[in-house]
Amino acid sequence: MLAQDSPDMTNAKIVVLGSINMDLIARCHALPLAGQTLTATGFQQIRGGKGANQAVAASLVGSSVRMLGRVGEDGLAASLIDELKQDGVHCSQVLPTPNVSSGLAMITVSDDAENQIVVIPGANAHVDAATVDQFADVISMGDVLLLQLEIPLPAVLRAKEIAQAAGVRVILDPAPIPATPLPADLFEVDLICPNETEALEIVGRHAKQNATAAQPQEITAWQNVAEQLHQQGSRNVIITLGKQGVLFFDGNQHQHLSAQPVDAIDTTCAGDAFAGALAAKWAATNDLIKAIEFGNQIAALSTTATGLTALRTE
Ligand code: ADP
Repeated sequence: MLAQDSPDMTNAKIVVLGSINMDLIARCHALPLAGQTLTATGFQQIRGGKGANQAVAASLVGSSVRMLGRVGEDGLAASLIDELKQDGVHCSQVLPTPNVSSGLAMITVSDDAENQIVVIPGANAHVDAATVDQFADVISMGDVLLLQLEIPLPAVLRAKEIAQAAGVRVILDPAPIPATPLPADLFEVDLICPNETEALEIVGRHAKQNATAAQPQEITAWQNVAEQLHQQGSRNVIITLGKQGVLFFDGNQHQHLSAQPVDAIDTTCAGDAFAGALAAKWAATNDLIKAIEFGNQIAALSTTATGLTALRTE
């Protein structure tokens, strides 16, 4: 287990506020057309949600993790919580929510790897500022608060405010970027860690200078994007660059860390593995460079198997 290799992690207290979903995945020869009924060739039920994934990653590398969020009052809620607990995540602040389903993603994957996805936010949409107020004590006792954008923005902003008032470090993984305008103070955090697409979207919407319309290919071009993100108010900026690794900007210096060479077979949870592992190491060591190196290493490991499986078996 990774956790046994990381004795420094045990005192690291990570609080994750975010989404908890169940992915229901049907495999079919082809995607259904409108009005068509198809018979699936296979079915899988996998726990997801960026919040839950990041909580699991932070826990599997050995830190103590509290998940804050909501599940529905349905048959899926118990499995979602059981699975989080099996991965070592504390769930007493995951609240059952009456008259609503748990967060769900209904996914159809065809033989040629095309997919159709319908996301049902369910209970995740009911995580509001008043919910977060119930978690104030837990947030204040953490070393690091980890946030994403799969729950309503007022909840994210309230959690950030509580953490900052208590001197708790805040990491924002700004994913997914919502269609609604993003308040400027959202970015005033200790660390923001978008991927390439998200970084360009934020800069394109908010920066005084215009973002490069096309995805820059050169690392040096990403430095410009990182600088613009820094101007939004985040003390430290990381842009995750997939198989190009990560770019880090602390307001003075840029640092590029190449990705670890691995045989990647599934990169779906790489960003979540990165954020969770980074938060855990940062809390444990107070050394951000070490934490980024660790996140880069764990994210690469995560790509060698489905979801976060590789972190469980290592
Ligand atoms: P997201 O999953 O959020 O889109 P990225 O694709 O940028 O994020 O991946 C996050 C991190 O995962 C990268 O910065 C890198 O550390 C690691 N990673 C992703 N793809 C690979 C890969 N093919 N080989 C090694 N590491 C990878």
